[in-house]
Amino acid sequence: MSQTLRKISEDIHRNPELAFREYKAANWLASFLEGEGFKVQRSAAGMETAFIAEYVSAEGGPTVAILAEYDALPGVGHACGHNIIGTSAAGAGAALKRALSGTRLPGRVLVLGTPAEEGGGGKVLMVKAGVFKDVDAALMVHPTSGLSRIGGRSLATHSFQFDYYGKPAHAAGSPTEGINALDAVNIFFHAVACLRQHVPEDVRMHGMITMGGDAVNIIPEHTQVRYLARSYSLKTLASVVERVKQCAKAGALATGCRLEIQEREGYLARIPNLAISEAFIANLRALGEEVLPGVVDGKGSTDFGDVSREVPACNAYIRIAPEGVAGHSREFCEAAGSAEGAAALYLSAKSMAFTAIDLLTAPELLARAKEEFLKGRDS
Ligand SMILES: [Zn+2]
Ligand SMILES: [Zn+2]
Repeated sequence: MSQTLRKISEDIHRNPELAFREYKAANWLASFLEGEGFKVQRSAAGMETAFIAEYVSAEGGPTVAILAEYDALPGVGHACGHNIIGTSAAGAGAALKRALSGTRLPGRVLVLGTPAEEGGGGKVLMVKAGVFKDVDAALMVHPTSGLSRIGGRSLATHSFQFDYYGKPAHAAGSPTEGINALDAVNIFFHAVACLRQHVPEDVRMHGMITMGGDAVNIIPEHTQVRYLARSYSLKTLASVVERVKQCAKAGALATGCRLEIQEREGYLARIPNLAISEAFIANLRALGEEVLPGVVDGKGSTDFGDVSREVPACNAYIRIAPEGVAGHSREFCEAAGSAEGAAALYLSAKSMAFTAIDLLTAPELLARAKEEFLKGRDS
């Protein structure tokens, strides 16, 4: 099986597909799981490239979901290493089925193919479609640089599009007749720069100008900004969202522009589950991997955050590159297709399978995970 998995991982790596268009990757993984005896539902939850693969050893046991991602990034391909996430999830599922077959141990294993992590949020749509309704625990890995670790909190996101509408006029000949929509953007950016001192340290506010004007000799009539705000806390984020909108309105007020705001909730902040994390760390160490203790907060955002608010969930980060190699870089892409990447794929599959076995065989572990989950859900 290991050679097949490595080949699928390398094929996905060589054929990077963007969000919601991961046709080859989803098909290779779904076909592999069908070949291993899973019942596979393709085009799940209304997405062509999502799938739900199911194996039931015997009725009446808990359900463990193992999550696969396989989308790539524009320009830099598999620079987030999702080829390893997808293939290790399929590998863990197959290993679990082989281990459970022939035992009387009741349990249900789901391998969920979740598209579009880098934009679009397949897991958010799967949560909304009720895919996690009967799931007792969810596991996923992500490749990383530096030491392997278990992910703690991730940042919740909220996205905006601000459109300013002014009035065009000759920039040199009759500027007094114009209303400058780029000035409005400048004031907005400056207001947010002032706001940075007064928000908690975990808050991130960043954006770009997607329309800045049409010609240098015309007072810009229409400008557009795309913006993101993030925080570990949904409560903090809600207040930051309001303050960012106030900053945007300041630009409109000062210049006399009309402002249109479109906004969208992004990914929720991930809630780590210490009970499952401890079991995962013990399994990684038993497999010979050096792992940081406890859980380590990340400065990114993931749609696994939404999953962690539905069911007890654990997101491990497995080393494929030395400290300092940035995610979303060409170097990270190379590591995701390297021998280290393949080693991380095997380690990820084994450690997820071991942790799933723990969850299926130790009711007290699952009970602790659930109790912790219910306490932490509202943060
Ligand atoms: Zn990424
Ligand atoms: Zn990623």
